[in-house]
Amino acid sequence: MKLIGGALYVRIKGDDERCFRGNALSEGHPLIGTNCYACGKGFAVGNVIALVALGPGDDGDEQRLWHAGRYACAIAIPLHDACAGTPVEEIER
Ligand SMILES: [Zn+2]
Repeated sequence: MKLIGGALYVRIKGDDERCFRGNALSEGHPLIGTNCYACGKGFAVGNVIALVALGPGDDGDEQRLWHAGRYACAIAIPLHDACAGTPVEEIER
């Protein structure tokens, strides 16, 4: 995960899982102070988040890597894990 100019990127391949869950934010994490795209509330230390990768955006080089089945930088949005719909089996653990 990388923050570039306010946008969040993850490196994935086009056929990879698009939702990455389960990371708790630690002190100093770059997402602290930014807001969840689902509920609009800020992220705080200890919040468990989900990153949902959208795709390569309009960057031609990243689009070419993506369509060749190679790793590319994909724009992602951060959500609280609960806002992304934490799987029931994880809640019941
Ligand atoms: Zn949220």
